[in-house]
Formats: sequence, C-alpha cells, structure tokens
Amino acid sequence: MPRPAVSLVLPIYNEEPVIPELSKRLTELLARLDVETEVVFVNDGSRDRSFEMLRELAHSIPQYRVLSFSRNFGHQAAITAGVDYATGEAVVVMDADLQDPPEVVLEMIERWKEGFDVVYAKRRSRQGESFFKLITAKIFYRVFAAMVPIEVPLDTGDFRLMSRRVVRELRGLREAHRFVRGMVSWIGFKQTAVYYDRPARFAGETSYPLTKMIRFAIDGITSFSVTPLRLSTYIGFGMGLFGLAVAVWALVSKLVFHDTVQGWTAVVVLLSIVSAVQFLMIGIVGEYVGRVYEQVKQRPIYIVADTVNAELGDERNERGNR
Ligand code: UDP
Ligand code: MG
Repeated sequence: MPRPAVSLVLPIYNEEPVIPELSKRLTELLARLDVETEVVFVNDGSRDRSFEMLRELAHSIPQYRVLSFSRNFGHQAAITAGVDYATGEAVVVMDADLQDPPEVVLEMIERWKEGFDVVYAKRRSRQGESFFKLITAKIFYRVFAAMVPIEVPLDTGDFRLMSRRVVRELRGLREAHRFVRGMVSWIGFKQTAVYYDRPARFAGETSYPLTKMIRFAIDGITSFSVTPLRLSTYIGFGMGLFGLAVAVWALVSKLVFHDTVQGWTAVVVLLSIVSAVQFLMIGIVGEYVGRVYEQVKQRPIYIVADTVNAELGDERNERGNR
C-alpha cells in the first residue's frame, strides 16, 4: 500500500459502546477526504470487547490498523504508540469517544496544506463536563502557562494534527512521564488553531477520575518546570526573615522590658506549620527524584501484544523499547 497522506490515531480504553458510531463517523470522514488515509487504533488494555470489535472492523475496512497493548499503559502511552506506528505525512491524534468530532479533521488538513506544522483544536465551548472539571482545568492551564517557559495553547487537549517533521521530533522524546500536548508545544514549528465546540462523550464513562487528573497535572508541571523546586528556597528565605524578626522582638521584650514572652501556643503553632511545610517540600523533591528514577530505568513506554493490518518491523519494536 502507498504511504498514506494522513494517519488518524485513536487511543481506545473500554470504548465498546462508542465503537459502532465512531466507525460510522470515521468511514464518513474517510469518504470525504480526498487524500489517502489510515486509521490507527491503539487498544490500551481494554477490559471489554473493544479489541474484538476493532479486529472485526479492521478485517473489512483496509484503512483500519489496530495495535493492542499487553495491559493498560495509559492514555499518553497509547497516543505515543499510535504516533510511533503511524506512517502518514501528517498525523492527527484524537479521542475515540467522539468528543473530538472527526469532521474537524477536514479543516485541520486544510491548514496543514497551507503550510502549518501543528494544527491544534481549541475548544470554543465544552459540554457534558462537570463544573468541577471545567474550573479545575481552567485554573490548571493558566497556572501551567504562567510556570513554564514554553508557549502552550489554552483550552486544548491532545486533539491536533502534526506534520511529518514534528512527528519525527516527537518520536525522539522518550520521556517516561508524558505530557504529550506540552511536548508538541515544546517542539515548536509553525503552529495554528482551529476552533470547535466540544460535545459530551457519546457513550460510556470518562476514564479520567480526579486522582488521574491530579497525577496528569503533576506530570505536566514536572515535565516542563523546575519552579516548584525553587519554592523551598523562597519559603526558606521568608521564614528566615520572619524568624529574625521574632527573635529581635523576643530579645527586646526580655532584655529591655524584662518581660518573658509566654510561649507554648506560639511554639506549637509554629512547629506544626514549619514541619508541614518541610514535609511538603520533601514531597516536591520526591516527585522529581522519582521521575529521575523512572527515567534511568529506561523501560519501554508501552508493550504491544497484538496487531491487526499493521506490520511491526523490528525497527518499530525497537522504537517502543528505546
Ligand atoms: N484512554 C486510554 N487509556 C486510558 C484512559 C483513556 O487510551 O487509560 C482513551 C479513551 O479511550 C479516550 C481518550 O483516551 O479515547 C480520552 O479518555 P476519556 O474520554 O476517558 O477522558 P476525558 O475526555 O473525560 O478527559
Ligand atoms: Mg472523553
């Protein structure tokens, strides 16, 4: 088969109720595209029948390719595998739950043909998310933008098109803790946005509960910023100055006014606060040390157990294992 112009990459984790509609919308999209296209599904260790359904579809639709992991490695690992295996001149990453409407891809391809290397989809509106998720996401991305020196587009997810040269660079970044949207911004090149209204999940449930969201947010910040490590220096300075002032005050009251400061309450309160801050700072250092540890182990980011319509050359296996 000739090398396709465009590869669509879709991570799949327990998407059984979505797959029939997804496939319908994708085949409609394939019919509307005037360029050769492949669809790479990455089954991220689904516990339902997602893989069986995809395998069946791939047997009748030649553009479909399926990679299936040996277990659940996570959304970002699934995206990474899809991008590693995609052969297109441009690669589009999108969620499988139809929150990233396939039709937007048409507009992305137009922009890519105009010469842009990255076309990310920016949410104009967002439906079907809890108020809590909306507000925490808004705060996180603004804090993130303020902390990291690279320019990250606000209100975007992983839904984006990348040109061949961006994909080549992305494949070279084998970080164990991955925040792909940040990595794409870091790579640079000519980037632009298309706008879309993000609908609610078509069916099924989100696989991003609060704990996973927090972990993902910490991955994002630690991948791109060491500012949290400097926090203890700043707090140390602040506390030192405060301590100095309190010492002067205590000495003056004792030596000048012969009035010993009553102490128990103050000591207990200060001790609790200071030890809490210390543990917190050790925790922050731990987050970075842990990531260094995971990185030096050099484990593969994912392990592929099965494929359909996709040949894994040795070179490709190595890429996952780098
Ligand atoms: N996903 C995945 N592995 C996981 C969790 C999610 O491949 O461990 C996929 C999922 O199938 C979907 C996409 O990542 O295509 C986004 O997940 P989800 O819709 O649950 O997240 P949300 O949109 O609620 O942030
Ligand atoms: Mg979703």
